[in-house]
Parts: sequence; structure tokens; C-alpha cells
Amino acid sequence: MVSTLPALVVRAAAAALLLALIAGPAHARRNGPPRAQPVDMVVIHSTGGPTCDAHGRPIWVPGGELQDNLRTIEAHPRLGIHWMIDRDGGVHASVPEQQVAHHVLTHSRRSIAIELINDGDGRDAFAPAQIDALVALLQAIAHRHPALTLAGIQRHSDLDRGRLPCAPERRRKVDPGPAYPHDAVIERVFGPR
Ligand SMILES: [Zn+2]
Repeated sequence: MVSTLPALVVRAAAAALLLALIAGPAHARRNGPPRAQPVDMVVIHSTGGPTCDAHGRPIWVPGGELQDNLRTIEAHPRLGIHWMIDRDGGVHASVPEQQVAHHVLTHSRRSIAIELINDGDGRDAFAPAQIDALVALLQAIAHRHPALTLAGIQRHSDLDRGRLPCAPERRRKVDPGPAYPHDAVIERVFGPR
């Protein structure tokens, strides 16, 4: 009902403010700018991967715990994520799909980001429950965003070919890594190619 809309909006804004006060600054980045173009890409990430330490040496950050990763990314001044999937298949939402989250160079405005808790090193096997949850989430995303085709399911490593500043011989982004069963996931979501 249109006449009640302003009251609803005010109530929703008050509720959002209250939630923000309760949640504190850790949830400050659980939002982003509204989208200006349709979603035709999903980017799969893993929480673990290479980086440079404070001394300028290359290190490998392990996958870590879901709540720690969510807290860190939501506290980041620029970065964001739409979904994070735990090793046990638990799916956690962050930035709403209708809003842009900055998670990959140049492709964030068109894409949805899914982060998998995994070391991303090719040795840390992805649990079947985690992959099952990813397949179900991708099917739901494809249903919500008709412009998404199988060609739009990308790994972060497919899109960012940059080099580590402290070790230029190494790639900057290699997630979700060689243990991630990319072709099998796409086949389960869209059927055999
Ligand atoms: Zn990534």
C-alpha cells in the first residue's frame, strides 16, 4: 500500500540504524552501491592464498575460520563479499546481491562474489558438503539473475593475472586453487556441456 510506504521506510531506516548500533563497526561494510548493470558473472574465491608480509616477504595465508574472515572483510574500508561458505556447507550472506561488493579488479560491478573457506593451496581438499552448498547457491543465483550463463562462472585466478609486489615471479591471485573442482561444479549447475 503506497500510503503507508513512507512510514514503512522510516521504520526500516530506524531498524537498520538500530541494527548498525548493535552490530557495531564490524558490519560497516555489509553494503555497497546499487548495481547499474545486470549480474552476468559469479567469481569464486578461497579465503586462503598468497600475500606479502610486513617485511616484504611472500607468505601463504591459511583459509582460517569463517567468522574471522567475515569480520575482517566487513571491517575493510573498500572490500566486500556477497556470500561466504564454510567447510561444513553453512552459507553466510554479507553484501546483498543487488549491491556491488568490491572483490575483484575491474569485474566487481557485474559480478557476485562467493568466498569458500579453504587454504587455496591445492592440498586442502574441498569437503563435499561445501561443494554441495556452492552448487545449490549457484543454482539459486542463476535463477535470480537470468543473464548469468556457465561462461560467467569464473575463478578469481581466471580474472586477476597480476603479480605479488614482493615476489613478481609469483601470481597475486591464485584462488580458489587447483583443489577446487571447477568443471564438476559448472556441470552440476548448468548440466553437461
Ligand atoms: Zn579471491
